[in-house]
Amino acid sequence: MSDQAAAARMHETSAESTATVDVVLDYARRRALFEDVPLDEPRAREELERVASGSITDGGIGAQRAIDLFEHVLAPACITTDHPGYLSFIPSAPTKAALSFDTVVSASSVYGGSWMEGAGAVFAENEVLHWLAHEFGLPAAAGGVFVQGGTIGNLSALVAARDRARRRHREAGTRAPERWVVVCSSEAHSSIASAADIMDVDVRTAAAGADGRLSGDAVAAVLDECGDAVFAVVATGGTTNFGIVDDIASIAELTRARDVWLHIDGAYGLAAMLVPRTRGLFDGVQHADSVIVDPHKWLFAPFDACALLYRDPAGARAAHTQRAEYLDHLTDKPDWNPSDLAVQLTRRARGLPLWFSLATHGTQQYRDAVEHGIVLARDIADEIARRPALGLVREPQLSVVVFRREGWTLADYQDWSDRLLESQKGFVVPSSHAGEPVLRFAIISPMTTMGLLVEILDTLE
Ligand SMILES: *Cc1c(COP(=O)(O)O)cnc(C)c1O
Repeated sequence: MSDQAAAARMHETSAESTATVDVVLDYARRRALFEDVPLDEPRAREELERVASGSITDGGIGAQRAIDLFEHVLAPACITTDHPGYLSFIPSAPTKAALSFDTVVSASSVYGGSWMEGAGAVFAENEVLHWLAHEFGLPAAAGGVFVQGGTIGNLSALVAARDRARRRHREAGTRAPERWVVVCSSEAHSSIASAADIMDVDVRTAAAGADGRLSGDAVAAVLDECGDAVFAVVATGGTTNFGIVDDIASIAELTRARDVWLHIDGAYGLAAMLVPRTRGLFDGVQHADSVIVDPHKWLFAPFDACALLYRDPAGARAAHTQRAEYLDHLTDKPDWNPSDLAVQLTRRARGLPLWFSLATHGTQQYRDAVEHGIVLARDIADEIARRPALGLVREPQLSVVVFRREGWTLADYQDWSDRLLESQKGFVVPSSHAGEPVLRFAIISPMTTMGLLVEILDTLE
């Protein structure tokens, strides 16, 4: 065999590679259509070492053995995040259209970083971003990019915000503050502190009210103290633990009056703006300078995708464009290059699964699917309130329900949670609120039913 022929064996279309593609896509098809995928559970490393090691060899084990290993050993050691009983953290629930199209994104080797290379894909992603911007009340000139997740989305937005603040000082010839400050709620997501750490800026938290919401008044007090050291205020559109939406309207009024960047972290909750009955909770988002929402959370796309939107994409581009001789050919063009809008360079066109699913189903089905979670959260909250053994910690605003089992310690919750997973009925891990252990249902999947949630409550009696 010539060197070239040997080198190309994994890439060329041959009987062997065709069989490999068939084996993989057959499995993908079965998995995508499987009705009752079990919840499954993690296994200890030692156990996996015993049953799953040795797959990397000089000669390869072949596609069939590798897929068998995945299907029967590795996949069952991963919790099924789109199972209707998965109610921890923030579940995932990709549509059949979105998850199957994700394989097309891979099969197509689309480079989503530049217009020159990925114009068609970037155009389609932008269709989705513009639709979202419109739903959020942002101006037509708003635009952005799909990044890996809310953590990178928040970081990228804050980097753009600080860049604007720095630029303003440069242009005015004034001295920038010694330490930059980002203001957020005491209930803000951990990724804000993480971003601040990476950026080496300080976080000042403004106290959320008794209802968990951050208000303009609380932010004003911090702004008065920190003056022009503040380069951004972060409001949360649906906290992860409770689904609480800050009083964004009063915060936006303040950031506009003081000309401070307003970022909305809506990774989980902003999807509820698609639903008329909850849209009003988010008044003020239309004034944001940047916004994020994760399609892999409540917009039914597969992992991983965060839609990051900027009011002024040109400013974000100035903050993020990487410059290098080999990139000049791209960056010197006036094209829309998604790479230039966030902390990234090479990028998967990770917005395409959502684009395909939205194009397939239309937006109304999305509104209905999000509303399902909101309605179900209210119904199960009522049921919890009716049960003497349980206590509702707070009325749900979106689709997260937090409650306690009266008289239980953290160890009781943990035992119960382990048994629930063992029974394969549900995955509900304890959380905490104000130092007290609590339980939490995060409802995303339209396949999650009242019947299932009641069945889970029954195990708490
Ligand atoms: C999930 C979440 C994040 C982080 O998003 P990732 O996609 O997990 O990186 C940030 N903020 C909020 C409010 C979230 O719910």
